[in-house]
Amino acid sequence: MPKAAPRFLALLLVPSFTFSALAAKHKTTAHNEAATPPTTPIVLHVDLTDAPRHILRAHETIPVSAGALTLEYPQWIPGDHRPTGPIDNLSGVFIRANGKDIPWRRDEVDMYGIHLTVPEGVTSLDVSYDFLAVPGGTGSDENDATSANMAVLEWNSVVLYPAHIPVADIPITASITVPEGWKSGTALTPTQQSGNDTSFQTAPVYTLVDSPLITGRYFREIPLAPEITPKHFLDVAGEAPEDVEIKPAVLDSFSRLVREASMLYQSHHYETYHFVLSLSDTVRSEGLEHHQSSDNGLPEKGLSDESMAMLDADLLPHEFTHSWNGKYRRPIGLATPDYATPMRGDLLWVYEGMTQYWGDVLATRSGLLTPEQFKESLALTAASLDQKPGRTWRNLEDTAIAAQILRGNTQNYGNWRRSQDYYPEGELVWLDADTTIRQLTHGQKSLNDFAVKFLAVGGNTPPTVVPYTFDDIVNDLNSVVAYDWRGFLTERLTSHANHAPLGGIEHGGYKLVYDDQPTKFEKAELGYLGGLDAFYSVGLRVRKDGTIGDVKIFSDADKAGFAPQWKIVAVNNVGYSDDGFKDALKHAKGTSEPIECIVSNDNHFRTLKLDYHGGEKYPHLERDNSAPDLLNDILKPLVPVTAAAK
Ligand SMILES: [Zn+2]
Repeated sequence: MPKAAPRFLALLLVPSFTFSALAAKHKTTAHNEAATPPTTPIVLHVDLTDAPRHILRAHETIPVSAGALTLEYPQWIPGDHRPTGPIDNLSGVFIRANGKDIPWRRDEVDMYGIHLTVPEGVTSLDVSYDFLAVPGGTGSDENDATSANMAVLEWNSVVLYPAHIPVADIPITASITVPEGWKSGTALTPTQQSGNDTSFQTAPVYTLVDSPLITGRYFREIPLAPEITPKHFLDVAGEAPEDVEIKPAVLDSFSRLVREASMLYQSHHYETYHFVLSLSDTVRSEGLEHHQSSDNGLPEKGLSDESMAMLDADLLPHEFTHSWNGKYRRPIGLATPDYATPMRGDLLWVYEGMTQYWGDVLATRSGLLTPEQFKESLALTAASLDQKPGRTWRNLEDTAIAAQILRGNTQNYGNWRRSQDYYPEGELVWLDADTTIRQLTHGQKSLNDFAVKFLAVGGNTPPTVVPYTFDDIVNDLNSVVAYDWRGFLTERLTSHANHAPLGGIEHGGYKLVYDDQPTKFEKAELGYLGGLDAFYSVGLRVRKDGTIGDVKIFSDADKAGFAPQWKIVAVNNVGYSDDGFKDALKHAKGTSEPIECIVSNDNHFRTLKLDYHGGEKYPHLERDNSAPDLLNDILKPLVPVTAAAK
């Protein structure tokens, strides 16, 4: 059946709120062009046969009428929360009508807008262009989405459409040609397939951009939790045939994930769901949410290597959760009518923060993480936020408002700048809310009840957007249990306190402590990434080769004069190694001898003295028996595992 055009439920929340209403508001700028939604679809063909050469060739037939016209290329990519459309890699653009070239001129302010005049008598444009899937200047993920054996097509990289019309109102009929013998998967509905060519049902541009396609030489589509309707699939491509032979235990956990999410959210807002998954060391790591699918990118051994699988266990649960929290329920500032309208990220601590929380909880309830691994991961999250001096000047809300400038930043002085902390600190806030509800109701209610209230509103629906405001969050929390939720959230959003909100961990029956042994989770992380975590001791994060990543402001390393990007050449006169640095920390413990480091700042060398004697320190959660173990309760599966296995 046809994909429903996404539409806003005109709920009590925001009366008569529609894409078109938003567009009308946006259109207060001087545009003379008519913005009547077209009835004839744009026809788009994407030729992926040269994907291994990092070039995707597209052709569009765009219905038009005579007069001024602006074509737009998507700029504000949903889920990216920033203007990253890879416009710099849009090349070879030729616009023709009736066989003649039509001159065009780029907008001098909006780099994504192309102006032209449609001559009298012309009813359609032939537009051809190439997308160069090579590293570019916009920080886009689409640039690195092809390899010798696969391609992930996020359609925003290959679509042009008339400006000033809500993208939910522009119909488009897409088709693809893939390299010989490659197979593909997507949430789009195919209408015709012959050889390497596939055509898809006409859908709004919104739906097309929301429905990534994966194609590959080694590809499998695997049904998950087949007893559940709507139907769920894993669409996986790898770099070698064995990559797509997923272990039964992993597939079982993915099926459990579908069952757990269905039980937790008590609704679906899609007609089918596809976990698009690339397993490749060439194609970028990714996690991009959509209504009916998610674009997930893991290293080639990301599922088969146990450590890697543990470190990325939350990826699929996180992106899946976004179908409810982020796509269906969406902060009003992110519910934009098109990809030219700037987004406002102030509520990303709900969109991403609550998703981070449920992603980790669902990973554990599904068996992708053990409760122990969840706690070890949570200890790292809590410690890195608790020891982040940047929180004294930039509050949590500002990390969300500033999302578009914080994404993609480096580790260098990250503790002072802060980064997209609305993810991990959002997780702490929602854990705090969960344990608070459990305490207030003596275990009768939990954040599970809020999830149903907030995410199942309207029951089962096709892909639809229901926007919300801060007040809606407060009201829904109050409907679960009456409390000063406005004060609770405002305090955590605006606090400049020196410490992170650890109330959820404490009410959950644990406390954050440090000892001289990293957890297995942190060991795996360091083993995978390499390098040294001396952040909670001297205040340094160091890469394998001795290059300093982060220096904690106000720490002993800061006082000694260390700086990011410098290199530690020697420790106590011995050439740098991670183990050598750790030995020096051990030996200095309880003594008064400083640790001497020779550091280089390019070609300039100097000796720095670290006056630190506290030994190694790594974060852990320790059980606090004065409070009930709510964390373990939270992590228990909602669906009995034995029943689900049938
Ligand atoms: Zn997310």
